[in-house]
Amino acid sequence: MYKIGVAGSGAMGGRIGLSIKEAGYDVTLIDNWEEHVNYININGAEVQTESKKYSIKIPAVLTENVSDKFDLIIILTKAMTSEMMLQQLQDKNCISEDTAILSMMNGLGHEERLSKYVPLSQIYLAVTMWTAGLRGPGQWLLEGKGSIDLQRADGKKDKCTEFILNILNEAGLNARISNDVFKSIWSKATLNSVLNPLCTILDKTIYEFGTYIEAKNMIIPLVKEIVTVAKAKNIFLDSEELLDKIESAYPKEAQGLHYPSMHQDLNNGRLTEIDYLNGQITAYGKKLNIPTPLNTMITHLIHQLEMKI
Ligand code: NAD
Repeated sequence: MYKIGVAGSGAMGGRIGLSIKEAGYDVTLIDNWEEHVNYININGAEVQTESKKYSIKIPAVLTENVSDKFDLIIILTKAMTSEMMLQQLQDKNCISEDTAILSMMNGLGHEERLSKYVPLSQIYLAVTMWTAGLRGPGQWLLEGKGSIDLQRADGKKDKCTEFILNILNEAGLNARISNDVFKSIWSKATLNSVLNPLCTILDKTIYEFGTYIEAKNMIIPLVKEIVTVAKAKNIFLDSEELLDKIESAYPKEAQGLHYPSMHQDLNNGRLTEIDYLNGQITAYGKKLNIPTPLNTMITHLIHQLEMKI
């Protein structure tokens, strides 16, 4: 049977892995969090949705104990641990030359890091608008609806892309094949590079941030830096469209009442994905000789806050 491993089975890994398991596939949750793995193996994965609470029997395994070879590995660690995860899976012979690696992580540059371990032709990139939360080890809060856009990292079409698409859609995950996944990745990363760090630094909800009369003037130059770096990498973003998307998150009935995930990570004493958002923009800017003072400053500010952890 086609074997699927979800490498990094926290909030989002669980959302995707459990949906695919419910569609009848052979799915294993792989994670380094022992309490979480034990809880799932003893109690099942507990899911709370808007309307019901239930549990799903699904195998979970610590990365150090994994022994299967997988046909598809979905990477949903936080960005900073993806390379370590892939290295561990490679050391355990879980990856063959036919294994598809699907990254759904937020942030930029995953194809560059993951291709140190497997060829680009085995890597698939996805952007997801699904969200997920954990209420505790082995306990998920899965609300709302979402979608997934995916494409092979080298832009080529293949049967495997369609195969993955079918699995995701059988699982009700509302997936489609993209012709320009990098544009979607950079668009989402722009939103995340604006709202995540600014709400975190200011300790504000998205709504509170948006009520500042000069909010637009604050974010325009930041978006401009990102759009300029993207353009130099042949990714063409529309600043106005991005600003509209950011502002559409402000209302309370949109995402306004939430603190972005970066704020939640810091408050829970965890490191953030800043180096894969604003930090990655700065790194690309340096390589391309494009000044990115705002993204650089924001990266430093978040790293300063991380020092309190
Ligand atoms: P997560 O923090 O829930 O899980 C990431 C890893 O951290 C997992 O290995 C998990 O087991 C471990 N972990 C989580 N809580 C822990 C705890 N209390 N103690 C020890 N270990 C713990 O991260 P996520 O939200 O699933 O994000 C994974 C990727 O997906 C990221 O790149 C993120 O940006 C992206 N993403 C997340 C969402 C979302 O709504 N959660 C939406 C879209 C994209």
